[in-house]
Amino acid sequence: MSTTTSEADAARQQLGSEFAGELIGPDDAAYEEARQVYNAMIDRRPALIARCATPDAVAKVVAFARDRDVPLAVRGGGHNGAGLGTVDDGIVIDLSLLRDIEVDPEARTARVGGGCTWGEVDAATGEQRLATPSGIISTTGVGGLTLGGGLGHLTRKFGLAIDNLLEAEMVLASGERVTASADEHPDLYWAIRGGGGNFGVVTSFLFRLHEVGTIIGGPTFWAIEQSAEVLAAYRDFILNAPRELNGFFAFTTVPPAPPFPEELHMRKVCGVVWCYVGDEEDAAKAMAPLLDALPEPLMHGVQPMPHAALQGAFDELYPKGDQWYWRADFVNEIPDEAVEIHAKFGAEMPTMQSTMHLYPIDGAAHDLASSDTAWSYRDANWGAVFAGVDRDPANVGKIGDWSRGYHEALHPYSAGGAYVNMMMDEGQERVRAAYRDNYDRLARIKATYDPGNLFRINQNIEPAVA
Ligand SMILES: Cc1cc2nc3c(=O)[nH]c(=O)nc-3n(C[C@H](O)[C@H](O)[C@H](O)COP(=O)(O)OP(=O)(O)OC[C@H]3O[C@@H](n4cnc5c(N)ncnc54)[C@H](O)[C@@H]3O)c2cc1C
Repeated sequence: MSTTTSEADAARQQLGSEFAGELIGPDDAAYEEARQVYNAMIDRRPALIARCATPDAVAKVVAFARDRDVPLAVRGGGHNGAGLGTVDDGIVIDLSLLRDIEVDPEARTARVGGGCTWGEVDAATGEQRLATPSGIISTTGVGGLTLGGGLGHLTRKFGLAIDNLLEAEMVLASGERVTASADEHPDLYWAIRGGGGNFGVVTSFLFRLHEVGTIIGGPTFWAIEQSAEVLAAYRDFILNAPRELNGFFAFTTVPPAPPFPEELHMRKVCGVVWCYVGDEEDAAKAMAPLLDALPEPLMHGVQPMPHAALQGAFDELYPKGDQWYWRADFVNEIPDEAVEIHAKFGAEMPTMQSTMHLYPIDGAAHDLASSDTAWSYRDANWGAVFAGVDRDPANVGKIGDWSRGYHEALHPYSAGGAYVNMMMDEGQERVRAAYRDNYDRLARIKATYDPGNLFRINQNIEPAVA
């Protein structure tokens, strides 16, 4: 009998028929579908996938994995590029059954299950014309995105996702259930705001909500040949723009579908994807200094829309099952030499879905100091991501080469470390570089809450040795 089968059988025996959830092993019909994660390059075969329907069920599986000393992965939305929501021959705690969402419009909070995706949260909060900062794609998991930091359309106005996290209900490596907040386990609360899944399983998050109804959003595209001029102007513009205006710079290929005009289909472009929290007239005023300084764009697709609609705008372009290889870095400045490198690699995007984004992280994200939460790059101005993406596995080499080459060429101009949520498996030095001065404190907190490093399928913080 293989080890993989025995893990599932042992779980069934030990956790029993009363187990709240589903236990899926390699011999079960549901296994093939259940083992898949978003990045099709990741092809792992866990010994057991435990879909837990209650925090108590999570605690039982945590204890089971710990006692049997098998690798344990925790899966929220399964979007992680490096495939950290799954593991070969180990146990996956799949949180996809923990999807309750309670919005309290008076308190302006939302309590969100640890396995929710952002689209579900945005839909629920949007009904009350409220929102909390998240990312830019609605199928991403709340769990991984939040615990790593959370950069998105509302960053400049309302900060990172973690800046709006009020508390988290957690299952620790010991199996104990605790709340992490400013009042309870404040060290843990500090650590989970950027420190990823290193400290336990979050079964629910409590977020602060803001008044966000209709936003003014969409892309402005210019010809790829104008990249250097557009990026230089964007760089000088965005850091002085009002906080209501978020705009990330992007290289992309115009998808061959409406609402894009046919003459632009499959054309490589550079541009800015906007999100303005406020009315149309103020949005136009806020964008004007950039638009007036540049040549007429190929397309200015900015319009009023519900916040949730902007969040879902890229979903069709990036369905589950594509190959993803990405690299990232934080950036303080974009000197002219770096602008030229961007222009070169932008023009060489290897496939239709490959892209580069520069997410602004100034504005409200700068209101906190680097030591206020585990997320240490509060002084950086952008998070850059170089994402090679394609449906066809035959193109894995091509997308990886482009992404790595782009990153290596620009790394000397970076702030040194990268955003953990946009890293591949890049080794311990890169994890340390992501946390800089916060690393040692994280390692001490890890030693308190997870001394045996049970939660190690992540951008791992090794427990400090006493
Ligand atoms: C298409 C796409 C778009 C993206 N856009 C953005 C963006 O706009 N902004 C941004 O900041 N990031 C973005 N990301 C990156 C994203 O934040 C990370 O991939 C993140 O890890 C995804 O979280 P997940 O829960 O879906 O992933 P998973 O693969 O399920 O988990 C990732 C990691 O988080 C841990 N984890 C997840 N949930 C929990 C939980 N409840 N408790 C404890 N640990 C948990 C896992 O153990 C694992 O280590 C994007 C990713 C993709 C693929």
